[in-house]
Amino acid sequence: MVEVAGSEANVASTPRTHRKTVRIIESRSGVRTAAISFLITAAVAVLTIVVWLSTRKTVEPPAVQRTLQEVMLDWRCDNGHTLTYPGKIGPRHCEKCGGEMWPVATWSCENHHSYKVAVRLEIGPDGRPGPKEFRLGRRDWVPAGTVLTCPRCGQPLIQRVRDPYAGLPRKRRK
Ligand SMILES: [Zn+2]
Ligand SMILES: [Zn+2]
Repeated sequence: MVEVAGSEANVASTPRTHRKTVRIIESRSGVRTAAISFLITAAVAVLTIVVWLSTRKTVEPPAVQRTLQEVMLDWRCDNGHTLTYPGKIGPRHCEKCGGEMWPVATWSCENHHSYKVAVRLEIGPDGRPGPKEFRLGRRDWVPAGTVLTCPRCGQPLIQRVRDPYAGLPRKRRK
C-alpha cells in the first residue's frame, strides 16, 4: 500500500510539473514584455538616482527662496533690548519697553567696536525681501547702500559677513 501510494504520488506530481512548464511557455512573451518594462523602469530609476546624486548639492533650496518669515533675525529696540524672531516687514514692539524693534546687522570700525545697525526691510519688485534702509544708533534712516561711518572716528564701517539678512538675496545686499 505504501509503495502504491508512493507511485501514485509520483504520478500525481508529474502532471503538476508539466502543467507549470506549459504555463511558462505559453506566457513567455508576456513575461518577456514584463521583463523589458521592468528593465526600462529600473534603468529610469537608476538614471534618476544618478541625476539626483550629481545635482544634489545644487538642488538644496537656495537661501534666496526662503520667505522672510523663515529667516530668523536679531531684533533690537532703541533701549538695547534684543530678541531673535522671524523676519517681517516693519517694526515689532518691544515687550519690555514698548518701543519699536528693528532687525539689526552688525557693522564694525577698524579702530573701534562693532555697531548694531537697524535694517528696514522691503519686498522688492521681484517679490523677494531685502534691505531698504539702514539706521545707525539714533541717526536718520539712510537708503541701503549708503556708506555708514563710525560715530567716533568717521571711518567707513564694514558690514560683517554674518548679518541678519544673510539668507536674503545677495544681489540686493550692499
Ligand atoms: Zn525695549
Ligand atoms: Zn571708529
